[in-house]
Amino acid sequence: MTAPFNFSAGPAMLPAEVMQQAQEEFRSWRNSGISVMEVSHRDPAFMQMAAQAEQDLRELMAIPANYQVLFMHGGGRGQFSAVPQNIAGPDDTVDYLNSGIWSDFAIREAGKYVGRVNVVGGTEQTSRGKAIQSPVSWKLSEKPAYFHYCPNETVDGIALHDIPEGISAPLVADLSSTILSEPLDVSRFGIIYAGAQKNIGPSGFAIAIIRDDLLGRAQGNTSTIMDYSVQARERSMYNTPNTFAWYLSGLVFTWLKGKGGVHTMGAINREKAALLYDYIDASDYYSNPVHPDFRSRMNVPFLLADDRQDGAFLQQAEKRGLVGLKGHRFVGGMRASIYNAMPLEGVKVLLDFMKDFEKTHA
Ligand code: PMP
Repeated sequence: MTAPFNFSAGPAMLPAEVMQQAQEEFRSWRNSGISVMEVSHRDPAFMQMAAQAEQDLRELMAIPANYQVLFMHGGGRGQFSAVPQNIAGPDDTVDYLNSGIWSDFAIREAGKYVGRVNVVGGTEQTSRGKAIQSPVSWKLSEKPAYFHYCPNETVDGIALHDIPEGISAPLVADLSSTILSEPLDVSRFGIIYAGAQKNIGPSGFAIAIIRDDLLGRAQGNTSTIMDYSVQARERSMYNTPNTFAWYLSGLVFTWLKGKGGVHTMGAINREKAALLYDYIDASDYYSNPVHPDFRSRMNVPFLLADDRQDGAFLQQAEKRGLVGLKGHRFVGGMRASIYNAMPLEGVKVLLDFMKDFEKTHA
């Protein structure tokens, strides 16, 4: 594969093979002479494709039979409000770990729908960088309706790699930036959700995976399209779904299966991340602010020794075909997002560029 390599955090790079196939059948899906975007979602061919996409996702993630897989509207943030409305009441307490910017947004949204949002803990500065506070220090509430956390904070580049132990309330995870990037024991969770635009497909679309026993608990005034029970009953077609996003996500699932699934991806993703972090750690010019145990394998933020060189770095990177490296506006610096679609080769080209830039600017 050749440049450009797109390191955007999301919407992010999609597999080249998937884009190629989508382009080839854009005007004539399955030789029908019409686009998949023009087909009714009730059309048998579309329904078959949609069911296959769900089946492929179930296989990829080894989703147990007692979980519903929903294809939802409204991206990751849509689920920030869907979760509390669906499984907590207006008088309930809910527990949230605040490990970064996206957790914080989720906390604020939940506050609109529940009695109390209890923040159990957050991050702390240590001599080896920013870390997530140890679970032993978390201030869990007595009977929360659920416990929510974000295993991979996309902006901060901070991750909780182990699923929290000993939480009796249903675990809810925002997997927007890490879903399908490595194996995961779905049975440990009550709800998993993810905005699609990183490891799955187009933005505005979301996947929600819900254990059956959590259905049927939505608050009475929950908007119907966000009601998990309704969407489960209607096979995610209560209203017209985002048919193109569903189709494209299905192509990504097929691609992923062909690549060997999440085990293979997990190994490649570890290798890509290690290459970057090892180089950054060895360099006096680049730095990463996160404790090694909590570093994201999907989003690698880094700072240059002199931020006045940020502009030149981005400009020269772009000339080499390395795009989307600007850090989030809240934190500045750089960020290389290396989701499944980013090949190892792209990371190697980025490393070569970083080395050259360091030589001429350090
Ligand atoms: N959660 C996480 C971890 C994210 O990275 C993002 C988006 N970058 C969101 C939620 C919000 O997703 P959306 O923009 O699709 O609402």
